[in-house]
Amino acid sequence: MLDVTPVRAFSDNYIWVIRGSVSPARVAVVDPGEAQPVFDWLEASGAELAAILVTHHHRDHCGGVTELKRQYDVPVIGPAGEDIPLRTRAARGGERVAIEALGLEFDVFDIPGHTRGHIAFYGHGALFCGDTLFSAGCGRLFEGTAAQMARSLGTLRNLRPETHVYCGHEYTANNLRFALAVEPENERTQRYLVESRTVLAQGRPTLPSTLALEIEVNPFLRCETATVRRAASQHAGQTLEDPIEIFATIRRWKDEFR
Ligand SMILES: [Zn+2]
Repeated sequence: MLDVTPVRAFSDNYIWVIRGSVSPARVAVVDPGEAQPVFDWLEASGAELAAILVTHHHRDHCGGVTELKRQYDVPVIGPAGEDIPLRTRAARGGERVAIEALGLEFDVFDIPGHTRGHIAFYGHGALFCGDTLFSAGCGRLFEGTAAQMARSLGTLRNLRPETHVYCGHEYTANNLRFALAVEPENERTQRYLVESRTVLAQGRPTLPSTLALEIEVNPFLRCETATVRRAASQHAGQTLEDPIEIFATIRRWKDEFR
């Protein structure tokens, strides 16, 4: 299993630090929205930065790249379809990227919806999915359509259930409140909310999640279940059958949910 450590940035972002299989002293970071927390972590751990991975162009995911590159001349692997500062490798869905210094390789998926060119990195039992899939939720549709996002989530849903899911933000507890508005009777969701609140109260991250858990609790991965279909239909005031319409309805519902 991949050795991954969370580094917090801003109020609720996670920068994921991946240790190499060649030497644990060499690491890659995923989505460094800020440089300073990474510098601090590197100094405290005595590790050396060997690569930067970026899932999408939002500042809170790549705002630290330029500063990190000033100190470490390392590859910057980011989506081909987006503007990523100092990118050295444009990654496209279907490709596999090798991080030689770490002895690791990741498959790249195109997962548009939150942004048009958003990508995910998948390998060694881990999925780095930025702002597309959150635990018990999904990203807002800033640039893409509901159909694109539904398809992207479908791609991720089909990966191995034991996959560890490393999302870009700590949104789990809030997402679970919404998930329970959609599926109040879902006992796994009820239990997960209690577990998450305990974990958060101890100052620990709720992540990584697993795909198996997401399939049980995440309403955005459950658009084909009778309960989510019924809840979406009730919210829309009409009978919905099409999973994309159901997805679009609960995404809009979530946008307004407080
Ligand atoms: Zn974003």
